Amino acid sequence: MNKIIYADNAATTKLSPTAFEAMKPYLLDIYGNPSSLYKLGIQSRKAVDTARETVANCINAEPREIFFLSGGSEADNWAIKGAAELGARKGKKHIISSKFEHHAVLHTLEYLEKHGFEVTLLDVHKDGLVRPEELENAIREDTALVTIMTANNEIGTIQPVKELAAICKKHNVLFHTDAVQAVGTIPIDVKDIGCDMLSMSGHKFHGPKGVGAIYIRKGIILPNLIHGGAQERGMRAGTENIAGVVGMSVALKESCEKMAVRNARLEKMRDRLIDGLLKINRSHINGDRISRLPGNVNMCFEGVEGESLLLMLDMKGIEASSGSACTSGSLDPSHVLLAIGLPHEIAHGSLRLTFSDDNTEEDIDEILTAVPSVVEKLRSMSPLWEKIIKENK
Ligand SMILES: *Cc1c(COP(=O)(O)O)cnc(C)c1O
Repeated sequence: MNKIIYADNAATTKLSPTAFEAMKPYLLDIYGNPSSLYKLGIQSRKAVDTARETVANCINAEPREIFFLSGGSEADNWAIKGAAELGARKGKKHIISSKFEHHAVLHTLEYLEKHGFEVTLLDVHKDGLVRPEELENAIREDTALVTIMTANNEIGTIQPVKELAAICKKHNVLFHTDAVQAVGTIPIDVKDIGCDMLSMSGHKFHGPKGVGAIYIRKGIILPNLIHGGAQERGMRAGTENIAGVVGMSVALKESCEKMAVRNARLEKMRDRLIDGLLKINRSHINGDRISRLPGNVNMCFEGVEGESLLLMLDMKGIEASSGSACTSGSLDPSHVLLAIGLPHEIAHGSLRLTFSDDNTEEDIDEILTAVPSVVEKLRSMSPLWEKIIKENK
């Protein structure tokens, strides 16, 4: 075994060397506190301001609508708990989301349910998409917030967020979208979408880990996330992660500049891989093929256990996932695959391969050689597969 094929870019990405170079001075030499008034502090302040402008430009927001924080989970928590509190002040304690959100959203909603909020989770259809008319039907007088992700982290399906946002606007309900998988990956324009809040995370687009941002449309004043100093307009206190925000902003700019060329290449690789893997007997693609992130392949192989598949691929140097990083390690099938209607035993046999610019056509060739042989081997030892074959004779 020589080369490692990293095909788990939905879990995290490799830091961009350009971003790393941009971060270095702020880790070594320019260590001033941005709140200090001498040169070293002012240099740090400027770096944070520039990073904010860069991030804002990439999603067509204004710099004052961008707040830096520690990542996607924190952004989701703030948006949802913050909007819940705003709603509760007006007696609105109903929130709408979907069944296949990230756990940063779902677990926050479970927490709010324990504190007197009512949550409606929209169904996700077999194609991995929610239906705008079902959202409209679910909105009530007391709905405070709708939170639906832009792109799903497991099956990569891209939701009609512009339509969803328009429905929310019509009914005067706040709309938040977890766009952690989308920002830097596909074009995102907050004004065009018409969302009120949007979450992003640096490490999903080749920025550093532990830094993210939230867009909060001007005019919306969420309750403070962290009480303390005056950082982030006094709403999220704590000395800024200067190198982090610089790295994230440079990575985002780079990722957006490369987007068109990269995505054309990734879509071609993705489609070739899907077509090749679908040749395996009783294999299925999860989620819509068209409304899908360029680098996402998510398949099920009947009669195969996902964890074993991953281990055997790892032995061949292929690093993939059976679902989200949060669910792997547990033997529960993915809530996303169950949400799109897969039965438990099929959802267990899932494989997610997610690609970045670093992947090549040769990687796809190797995966197309490795997966069928591993699936065949696992099936030859599987009582479940024997049963499937008998039942479908
Ligand atoms: C990765 C991810 C998150 C969590 O982001 P962190 O920065 O790791 O906290 C949230 N939502 C989605 C859709 C993700 O893919």
